[in-house]
Amino acid sequence: MDFKTLGRSDVKIPVLGLGTWGIGGLSTSRLGGEEKDAKALRLGLDLGMRFIDTAEMYARGHSEDVVAMAVAGERESVFIATKVSAENLSYERVIRSCAGSLKRLKTSYIDLYQVHWPNSRIPIADTMKAMEKLVADGKVRHIGVSNFSVEQTREAQEALSKNTLASNQVEYSIVERSIEHTLLPHCVKEHITVIAYSPIARGNIHGSSREERWRTLGAVAEKYGKTRMQVALNWLICKEAVVAIPKASNPDHVRENAGAAGWSLKIADQDKISRAFT
Ligand code: NAP
Repeated sequence: MDFKTLGRSDVKIPVLGLGTWGIGGLSTSRLGGEEKDAKALRLGLDLGMRFIDTAEMYARGHSEDVVAMAVAGERESVFIATKVSAENLSYERVIRSCAGSLKRLKTSYIDLYQVHWPNSRIPIADTMKAMEKLVADGKVRHIGVSNFSVEQTREAQEALSKNTLASNQVEYSIVERSIEHTLLPHCVKEHITVIAYSPIARGNIHGSSREERWRTLGAVAEKYGKTRMQVALNWLICKEAVVAIPKASNPDHVRENAGAAGWSLKIADQDKISRAFT
């Protein structure tokens, strides 16, 4: 596994983490799928993706329960990121939400606590004050945001007095590249890590590709002895400041995704893909 520095900190995180949206949901728990999902996460951890992203709202908190099952006995060596929901951004509610996440995750600290979505009805200063209190109390190590625009990211940075903003988690993949216009350059300049969500377009890179795109990915994949998915993920993590968090419950998918790190596309091949997916 390769690593990148988180924000302006001295902490290194794996370039590939494990997404958990849908994990612990009703359909999986009815089928006894929790253990299967925890197993898939454990496989990802064993393959070096020792970074898990979850949220208090995923499966109404149940994803965090499954994460706790997966990291049991290995907490210290896993980087856990979770999120506080947009409706819980007042000072008191952030503190309360964090307590809930800590309980479900069965841990005394969260490595990265992220604001899931901005909420214009609640001053960001209140939210960030609570975040800094959680850091001061040792309950949170790093503060991040998610789905924040450049302007909202700036406001969040300015609202922090003792900490720096470590990350912004946003949608980014070869088929969804909106952040390249202004947000990605801003984050690179400000040393804010971009955590790319839906990095394989929810598994639809294949279906949504036009024939020429499909052929380009296939030709590059063949050249490196990799799969198209691995090329699509590697293209992302080759970008400065970007890490990605694909979600996979299927163990074959977990293995395939883990194989997207540990090597790099040559710049000419990155450019070829960028052009094909413009
Ligand atoms: P994604 O990771 O792009 O795609 C997940 C889907 O792709 C699943 O259906 C998975 O199937 C399938 N898949 C995984 N690896 C594959 C492979 N190698 N080949 C073929 N199919 C594969 O989408 P996502 O779940 O939306 O995003 C990833 C994570 O980002 C989430 O789980 C969540 O942690 C985070 N996220 C955050 C936000 C936010 O607002 N901050 C929003 C969306 C997502 P199986 O599960 O069957 O393996």
